[in-house]
Amino acid sequence: MTTFKGKGVYGAIALGKISVFKRKEASVKRVHVDDIEAEKARLAAAKEESARQLSEIYEKALKEVGEANAQIFEIHMMMIEDDDYNESIQNIIETQSVNAEYAVAVTAENFAEMFASMDDAYMQARSADVKDISNRIIRNLAADDVDSGESDEKVIICADDLAPSETVLLDKDKVLAFVTAFGSSNSHTAILARNMNIPAIIGAGEDFLKAIHDGDFAGVDGYTGEIFIKPDDETTSRLKKKKKEDEDKKRLLQELKGKENVTLDGTKINIFANIGGVDHIGAVLANDAGGIGLFRSEFLYLESSDYPTEEQQFAAYKKVLESMAGKKVIIRTLDIGADKQVDYFNLDKEENPALGYRAIRICLTRPDIFKTQLRALYRASAFGNLGIMFPMITSVSELEKIKAICEEVKAELKADGVAFSDDVELGIMIETPAAAVISDRLAPMVDFFSVGTNDLTQYTLACDRQNSKLEEFVDTHHEAILRLIEMSAKNAHEHGAWIGICGELGADTTLTEAFLRMGIDELSVSPTFVLKVRDAVRNIDLSK
Ligand code: PEP
Ligand code: MG
Repeated sequence: MTTFKGKGVYGAIALGKISVFKRKEASVKRVHVDDIEAEKARLAAAKEESARQLSEIYEKALKEVGEANAQIFEIHMMMIEDDDYNESIQNIIETQSVNAEYAVAVTAENFAEMFASMDDAYMQARSADVKDISNRIIRNLAADDVDSGESDEKVIICADDLAPSETVLLDKDKVLAFVTAFGSSNSHTAILARNMNIPAIIGAGEDFLKAIHDGDFAGVDGYTGEIFIKPDDETTSRLKKKKKEDEDKKRLLQELKGKENVTLDGTKINIFANIGGVDHIGAVLANDAGGIGLFRSEFLYLESSDYPTEEQQFAAYKKVLESMAGKKVIIRTLDIGADKQVDYFNLDKEENPALGYRAIRICLTRPDIFKTQLRALYRASAFGNLGIMFPMITSVSELEKIKAICEEVKAELKADGVAFSDDVELGIMIETPAAAVISDRLAPMVDFFSVGTNDLTQYTLACDRQNSKLEEFVDTHHEAILRLIEMSAKNAHEHGAWIGICGELGADTTLTEAFLRMGIDELSVSPTFVLKVRDAVRNIDLSK
C-alpha cells in the first residue's frame, strides 16, 4: 500500500479502480515515407474512422444536449470532407514524401491561422474546430482511439491537474472520485467536484503521478485528503466502514428536507444552491434548496465549441426558471477568463490572468456578447423569478454602464414586442476588495449583493487561487476578509439591498453563526451542502 496526502475538497469516501486522465493531445513528428500510396491509404482509413466517431458523437449530443448544441459536430463532419483541406494534406504527403500525421498537422496549423485572422467572429471560431478535427484524424492515424480506456465501470480519475473545461466534459456517471497532483481548493475544478457530489482531493504531490497506474485498486478519503493505492485489508475495511457511516449521516440530513432555515431564537435565512448548468437542477431540488443563488452561466460557454446563441441561452435559462417554479434564480452573467478559458474567444495569453481581461471586462468591451446574453436572460425572465448578477465589479462607472446596457436591451425587447418581467432584481458580486470598500456607493444602485469569497480571498490576500503552493498562506478566515464582508452587509442594509454569500466560504459551518450575526440574508452553497448548512443554522442561538 502507498499513501499520498493532499487536501480534501469534498468529503466522501470512494473505493475503486484508478483511471489515469489522458489529455487528448497528439504530438506529431515529421517522418520521411517512401510509399506515398500506402500513406494516402492510411489517411483515408483514419478519415473514415474519424467521420464514424463524429457521427456517433453527434447522435449522443443530439439525445443529451439537443439539436442546437449538437450542430457543431455536423460542422466537423463537413469540415473533414472539405476539398481545400483534403487537397492540402494530399499535396504535402506527395510533394514532401512525409507521413500523414505531419501533413494533417501542418494543414491544421495553416487553416487555423487563416480562420483566426478573419474579421468575422464566427469564422474565427472555426480555427478551434479545424484543430479539433485534425487532432482526431492524427489520433486515429496513431490508432489511438479517442474513446479507448473508457469502460462502463466507475473509476477514480487521477490527473496532474484538471481544467474546468476538462472536468465538465467528463462523463459524470463514470467518476467515483477525483485526485489531482496539483490544483487548489478554491479552483473551479474543486467547485465542480463539490457540485458533482463526489470525493475529491487536490495537491497529492508530484510523486503521486509516478505511483498511479490504470486499473490499480485505490481508496479515497475526501475528509482527510488521503489516497491509498493498493490499500491493505485493514485500510480497505476501515474505509468501507467510514463510507457506510458517511452515507448514514448524509441520509440523516435528508430528514431536514421541508424544514425551515431558522435559528433557535427565530432568525430566518435563505439557503440557496450554486449550479453550473441545467443538469444540476436535479441536485438542487433533491437537496431542497430555497432557490438558486448562483448559476455560473459561463459553463454554457465552456461546454460549447462556439458562442452559444441567444436561442440556446434562452432555452437553458427558461428551463432553470421553470424547473424552480417561482423560486428565486440568480443567473450570473458570463465570467470567462483567468482559469476558465474558451478557445473560440481567442483571448490573448496574459502574465496575470486573474488580474486580467475577464468577466465583466470582456462583457463591457464586447457588447455584442453581453447583449446577446442579456436578451436571452430578460426573455427568460417571463418564465420565473429571475435575478441577474454581474461579476468582478470594481467601480461605480462599470455598474452605470451595465445598467445602461440593460435598459437598452429592455427597450429593444419592448420595441420587438417580446415579453419580459418588470421585476428582475439586479445585483453585483462583491468579490474584489474595491467593491467591498465602496459598497456604500454601490448598494443604492442594486437590489442585492452576493459575496464571492473565492475571488475576494485571492484578491484580498494576494494569493492566486490556482496556485497550489499557496495553500498554507490562504487563511480563509482572515480578519480582513471577514471585515470586508461585514462592511458590505452593513452598507447593503443601510441602502435597502439584501446580501448573500455565494463563494465556497458560505458552506463553512464554522462561520455560519458569524455570518448570521453580520446580518447575511442568504447563503448559496453547492447543492450537496444545503442540508448541512440548514442543520448548522437550526442549532444556532443568536440570543446568547
Ligand atoms: C467567487 O469568486 O467566490 C465566486 C462565487 O465565483 P467563482 O468561484 O465562479 O469565481
Ligand atoms: Mg469569482
